[in-house]
Amino acid sequence: MTRFNAWNVIKNGLNGQTGWDRQWRDPEVKKEYDVVIVGGGIHGLATSYYLAKNFNIKNIAVLEKGWIGGGNAGRNTTIIRSNYMMPGSHQFYEHSLKLWENLSHELNYNVMFSQRSHISLFHSPTARDVAARRYNIMKLHGTDAELWNIDKLKKNIPYLNYSNARFPILGAAVQKRAGNARHDAVVWGYARAADQLGVDILQNCEVTNISRTNSNIDSLETTKGNIKAKKIGFAVAGNTSRLWEMTGLVNLPIESHKLQAFVTESIKPLLDHVIVYGVAGAHFYISQSDKGSLVFGGDLDWYKSYAQRGNLPIVQDCAEAAMAILPSLGRIRIVRHWAGVCDMSMDGTFFICKTPINNLYLNAGWNYGGFKAGPASGWYFADLIANEKPHNFIKNHNLERFENGINLDERGAGPDPKLHG
Ligand SMILES: Cc1cc2nc3c(=O)[nH]c(=O)nc-3n(C[C@H](O)[C@H](O)[C@H](O)COP(=O)(O)OP(=O)(O)OC[C@H]3O[C@@H](n4cnc5c(N)ncnc54)[C@H](O)[C@@H]3O)c2cc1C
Repeated sequence: MTRFNAWNVIKNGLNGQTGWDRQWRDPEVKKEYDVVIVGGGIHGLATSYYLAKNFNIKNIAVLEKGWIGGGNAGRNTTIIRSNYMMPGSHQFYEHSLKLWENLSHELNYNVMFSQRSHISLFHSPTARDVAARRYNIMKLHGTDAELWNIDKLKKNIPYLNYSNARFPILGAAVQKRAGNARHDAVVWGYARAADQLGVDILQNCEVTNISRTNSNIDSLETTKGNIKAKKIGFAVAGNTSRLWEMTGLVNLPIESHKLQAFVTESIKPLLDHVIVYGVAGAHFYISQSDKGSLVFGGDLDWYKSYAQRGNLPIVQDCAEAAMAILPSLGRIRIVRHWAGVCDMSMDGTFFICKTPINNLYLNAGWNYGGFKAGPASGWYFADLIANEKPHNFIKNHNLERFENGINLDERGAGPDPKLHG
């Protein structure tokens, strides 16, 4: 594999870009693997990479029903942050952010991680107190966190609606190391690096049925034939309930909801931060891509679905929220919008755990925040699959936490998936 470095970029610039290799192989399907990961999104690919790299397991396949990154990994608004406070969550997301900080070097692939600050606006003294609690806890844990008053906010971001906003802006909670990355670059980077370590990435390979004897999965029926595996990991986000049903298991505490994202025409540089606006039922986040488009999103579509497209009420919601804080966007044109299918858990928190089936492992429940978690998710899921024991940071992220009364609910929103994000 030709490495990406200055020398090779210059050399290929001179020879008409003819010296680059394929980024990953298109391998023949083997009859049996040591580990099969179902789902070629960021979580599945990262898991395969860390299984091969950290645990030297080489006989691995990632099965993807479409093309890699065709799910949420390639459809999200790419906000990366570690502003969590619950035990376990803050260590996990901080580890993820640290992995992001070195990911381009680690994978030898430019994932375009840009630490441009994550700015959460607040609009009432109560909201400021809530933010202060969370951000002070983050500081105690050694994570970077700041509270900006209105003067500092105006100085740094002068173009928000400070004069006649319906909900006056009072300040912001800020994480400066947070930011964005390019979604498909991350998926391609992990795929290329995993392939180099011998992982078979099988695209257009859908799992259509699962054959199971008692507490073991015998084989996976796929569109490329039957595949056996000693260990199987699910990392299929909004499709987890479909795969779960194929195993014959019941009571999965996940609902599939869709979330939309929007992209506008390109404009000159305007926003160099990620800005989050959430007040009185409105939820809106916006940033500007390197191509100049504004990328934004809001809430879920409020009904359960497996469709990768959204409905008009959320278009209106997001447009209203945009106008509320950035009235200068009034005439910009939206050029694309789409949806992804989010795996919403009952407490807004993820699962990286074993299951009632001996050789089946679960990675799911990312709600609409799993992109930032991708590197750490792959790291800890690989650790679980290899060592058969959850790491201390994720030991409560299992299916039994509800009956055991373990609270991981970062928002305190209760068992209502659509209130979490
Ligand atoms: C619009 C939107 C905005 C978002 N914004 C953010 C954000 O700003 N920050 C953030 O951190 N997170 C965000 N998220 C959430 C984030 O995108 C997801 O949590 C994350 O990408 C999940 O990654 P994944 O690898 O688990 O899932 P996916 O990328 O969905 O990968 C799962 C894969 O499994 C495949 N699959 C499904 N069924 C089968 C089968 N039977 N056989 C084989 N393959 C199968 C699918 O095709 C898919 O490619 C957003 C999500 C959406 C939809």
